Amino acid sequence: MPDPSNNQLDSRPVVLLVDDSDFVHRLLKARLKYESVQLASAYNGLEGFEFAKKNPPDLILLDIDMPVMDGFETLRCLMEEPITRNIPVIVLSGMDTTQDKVTAFDLGAIDFVSKPFELTELRARLRSSLRISSLLKMLEQKAQVDGLTGLYNRAYFDQRWIEEYERCLRHSNGLTIVMMDIDNFKSVNDSFGHPAGDAVISGVANLIQSHVRKSDIACRYGGEEFVLILPETSPEQALGLCERIRTDCEAIHWPRHPDRNITISMGITGCSDGATLQPMPWIEHADSNLYKAKESGRNRIVCDQTQGKLIGLPKAG
Ligand code: GH3
Ligand code: MG
Ligand code: MG
Repeated sequence: MPDPSNNQLDSRPVVLLVDDSDFVHRLLKARLKYESVQLASAYNGLEGFEFAKKNPPDLILLDIDMPVMDGFETLRCLMEEPITRNIPVIVLSGMDTTQDKVTAFDLGAIDFVSKPFELTELRARLRSSLRISSLLKMLEQKAQVDGLTGLYNRAYFDQRWIEEYERCLRHSNGLTIVMMDIDNFKSVNDSFGHPAGDAVISGVANLIQSHVRKSDIACRYGGEEFVLILPETSPEQALGLCERIRTDCEAIHWPRHPDRNITISMGITGCSDGATLQPMPWIEHADSNLYKAKESGRNRIVCDQTQGKLIGLPKAG
């Protein structure tokens, strides 16, 4: 396995070999030595799947005939798991009937190499699959990120929100959502032009990003609106973070309009020990708190204490 202490320094792609044959492990270790990859090892399908979930590699070489969990079943699990779904898999197998190949490709394999294999050919196929893998990653990243701010985009938020909500239901821990909206933003565009407006949107996004933790998910919800998903965070804890963002924002000096500061209003909703609302009412509730913040004068935060105390909203099923 690659040495985890070296991982931060080693930028070479990781190839996970899942095979029960010690001979294949030794052979590939020796013969891929000069290829620009780090080789990780697993000796059955289950071990390979668990490894891939914890440390997603850039590519998987997968044997079919293995104890505990065979290659086809492993491939099925890898394709069903969101974390591993997009990792390219080359099946490397002595079972090479047409039906085996058709099954492997239908299950989602990117390539099939029959054993015994020609090392030069395997190396070429490995390089080709790694090229596809890096293009897939680039596409995936582009599809998730907002071009102006570099924050996650609305499409990513919609998907991630459901995942975090379900995680919160399963583990009964805290989860908080914050809707933010820049105050009187239209007048920035009207007075100083759209490029100045764009600079404000990306400046506020940078400020938000610099305050949140790595595990928090900051997204551009639309125009001059942002949404934060704060896993394992209660609304009370979120309030402290939001207050720092709010005060730092009003203190920013904007070179294009030094006399016009920028403020944000926010609506917070969340729970400290497990979701009691369905996912959509959370967003509506955070939005309605944001609306209250606007109504009561802007540049302020409206926050629920805990969701359990909310009245008139459906309970989660
Ligand atoms: P409020 O305090 O009530 O939020 O008022 P507001 O002026 O911020 O809100 P309003 O919804 O009236 O205006 C939002 C403006 O944001 C209108 C739209 O033209 C502008 N906008 C949306 N997306 C962008 C963008 O990407 N760049 C720029 N420069 N402006 C944008
Ligand atoms: Mg708005
Ligand atoms: Mg606004």
